[in-house]
Amino acid sequence: MPDVALVATGGTIASTQEHGGRTPTSSGRDLLAQAGLNASNVHDLDLGGSFAWSLETMRQVVERVRDVLGPSASGSGSTRPTGVVVTHGTDTMEETVFLASLLLDERRPVVFTGAQEPYDSHAPDGPGNLKDAFAVASSPKARGRGPLLCFDGSVFTARGVSKVETLSKHAFDAPGRGPALRVHDGRVTELHPMRPLPPLRNVPPDTGLPRVDIVASYPGADAVTLRASADAGAAGIVLAAPGTGNTTPAVVAEVARLTAAGTAVLVCSRVPSGPVLPLYAGGGGADLLAAGAVFGDDLSPWQGRLLLSVALAGSGGTTNGVVRAAHTVGDWAKNPS
Ligand code: GLU
Repeated sequence: MPDVALVATGGTIASTQEHGGRTPTSSGRDLLAQAGLNASNVHDLDLGGSFAWSLETMRQVVERVRDVLGPSASGSGSTRPTGVVVTHGTDTMEETVFLASLLLDERRPVVFTGAQEPYDSHAPDGPGNLKDAFAVASSPKARGRGPLLCFDGSVFTARGVSKVETLSKHAFDAPGRGPALRVHDGRVTELHPMRPLPPLRNVPPDTGLPRVDIVASYPGADAVTLRASADAGAAGIVLAAPGTGNTTPAVVAEVARLTAAGTAVLVCSRVPSGPVLPLYAGGGGADLLAAGAVFGDDLSPWQGRLLLSVALAGSGGTTNGVVRAAHTVGDWAKNPS
C-alpha cells in the first residue's frame, strides 16, 4: 500500500457549525476516520479559513508539503511518502495549488482537495473527495504532472483550475482546458497527457514573496486604485482587464508611469477562458504593451499574481530586476501546457 501523507489545513471539509459561524475544528485524523481511510503520516496546520490567509500563509503550506515529501532522490529510506494529499478550503485552493506548481520540483503526486459541505453535514462530500484524492495520489498516472486538484471526480493540473460554483459540489473546472484525469471508485482514468509546466524557480525560504496587488479594470476605471497599490508598496500589479486585455486611456497612462518607475504590470483577463493579446488601440491592449505591461496569456488574475510575485522574489527591486522578472512571467505564461 503506497504511503501517502496527509497535510490538513482546515477548510469546509474540516468545519463544523459553531456559535459564530462555520469554523475548521476537525483534525486530519478525524477526516481520515470519516472517510474510512488509514494513513500514518498526518500533519495538521491550524490556519483558519483560506479566504483570510496571507501570501506567506500559502507559502507556509507549500513549504510544509516540501518538508513532508522530503528529498526526492531515491534510496533515502522507506519513510519518504509516495505522495501527499492536502486538504484545503475551496475559496483559494486554486491559488495554493498553483503556487505549489511554481515552487516545487517534484514528480511524486501532490493532490489538493476539500469539500463544499462541512464535516458535520448530513450529506458531506468531503469523505468521497478525500478517498478520491488518496486514490489519485497513489496512482502512477498522477506522477510527473505537477500538483493536482481533485474534486467531485475530476482532477485538474494547477494551471487554469478555478472555482466555478459557490455551493454546488462540482465546484471546480479549468475553463478552456478541462480535467486531466478522472477518478471513480478508486480507479483513475487518463483524459489527456498534459505536460506539467516547469517550476518557475526555487525561492529560498528566507526570501519573502513580494506584494503584488490585483486591480480590476472596468468602464470608467481611473488611476486611483493603481496609484494606491503602488503607494502601499506593491512591487507588481496585475490588471484584471476586460476581454483580450483592454482598459481605459487613464489606466494606460498610469501603467506607463508605474512601469517607468519600476513597478511590474501584468495584464490578465477577467474572462474565464482564452488568452490576452495586445490587439486594440484607444486604451486597449496595444497601448498597454506600449506602456510597458507584460501579458499573462490565459492565466487568471489570481494565478497571475502568484506567478509575478514568485518571479519578483529576489529581483532586488531594481528596475532591471523587475523588467527581467516581468519578461520571465510573460515567457512562462506562454508555455504550452
Ligand atoms: N468555502 C470555503 C471552503 O469550501 C471556506 C473555507 C476556506 O476557504 O477555508 O472550504
